[in-house]
Amino acid sequence: MILNEIANEFDQCIKCGLCLATCPVGKTLFLEKYTPRGKVQLAKRYAAGDLEISEHYRDIFAKCLLCGACTVTCPSGVDQKTVFLAMREEIVKKQGLHPNVEAAVTSLLVNHNISDEDNSERGDWRDDIRDLPEHMYEKERADVVYFVGCVASFFPMVQSIPRNMVRILQLASVDFAILAGEEWCCGFPLIGAGAPGEMKALMDHNLEKVKALGAREVAFSCPSCYRTWKEHYPTDLKLSHSTQVIERLIKEGPISLGELRETVTYHDPCDLGRNAGVFDAPREILRSIPGLTFVELASNRNQSICCGGGGNLEMADAALSGRIAQNKIEEVRQTGADIVVTACQQCVRTIKGKVRREKLDLDVVDITDMVVRSISHG
Ligand code: SF4
Ligand code: SF4
Repeated sequence: MILNEIANEFDQCIKCGLCLATCPVGKTLFLEKYTPRGKVQLAKRYAAGDLEISEHYRDIFAKCLLCGACTVTCPSGVDQKTVFLAMREEIVKKQGLHPNVEAAVTSLLVNHNISDEDNSERGDWRDDIRDLPEHMYEKERADVVYFVGCVASFFPMVQSIPRNMVRILQLASVDFAILAGEEWCCGFPLIGAGAPGEMKALMDHNLEKVKALGAREVAFSCPSCYRTWKEHYPTDLKLSHSTQVIERLIKEGPISLGELRETVTYHDPCDLGRNAGVFDAPREILRSIPGLTFVELASNRNQSICCGGGGNLEMADAALSGRIAQNKIEEVRQTGADIVVTACQQCVRTIKGKVRREKLDLDVVDITDMVVRSISHG
């Protein structure tokens, strides 16, 4: 993306400041340079040749969740996220990768995952499954490919998500397969790192492996993988988030849900809700669970506030990511819910990680956890 090609975005900014109230970073750091308006003006100065990229500016543009809250608020239609991604690309060209992000990008290019692990271990989350079928979900042909994603594959805190997904798909008799060690990172972290040019090899590989199975649909429990495939992969395959798949399975009847007497709220992941338009499917699932009381967060759907886990911020500035997660927990507390449900492994990691560090009493779960809990009571 070339900054001059999006110069109209700068010119549209009337400096009204409405985006300041919606930005989790700006509201936490209280400095104009960290607000969407401040960053748009810095980008404008850079595009005009009035600003040299330095480590200082690299740090400023790294402090963004790419959550899109500013973009849906701007009355002038400035697409700030596009501006900030273009700036990250410029910064990589001039200064190289952010040092805290470099290791993950290098691992991704070498090992094909963000965790610096041998990619053959990508399917190790299956080890705890008691009734694991002989094929271990790796097949030669399948209608649906379940694309697990790096975070749920490698981080123990959220490996229950793929275990839940395969259980749900199995119960509903869906003909599905996983790629296991042949699944490569979708490429999403490269976009946030300012290095989208490196994505092609990953996309080509994943598409080839899915096509080889003769699949008609790819299902994702990671909103960022889902969005990356939708926006960047050249394919006409049906692409569905887990919430859309599960909503369909509940409506069609193969899944039977049992009663859960709990009060829950729902956190819209930025990449699923605001950035991909999936708001109703998770709510329909929660409303389908008998006995469940569902209360909305004060800021919900398009107005949802990021958990702190977006935009590679956790890698660039873990302390800031944690402060934003704390704000999210306080918003959850105000609902009176005992459980905060989300539909993203990164949101679970970010919020649950903060809950554990602070020793708080709050249950943080992925929506697949709620569905499996409900099925177990059926
Ligand atoms: S809301 Fe839009 S027009 Fe107003 S300051 Fe922010 S970017 Fe500029
Ligand atoms: S994308 Fe989110 S974190 Fe980044 S400037 Fe906009 S509101 Fe702030």
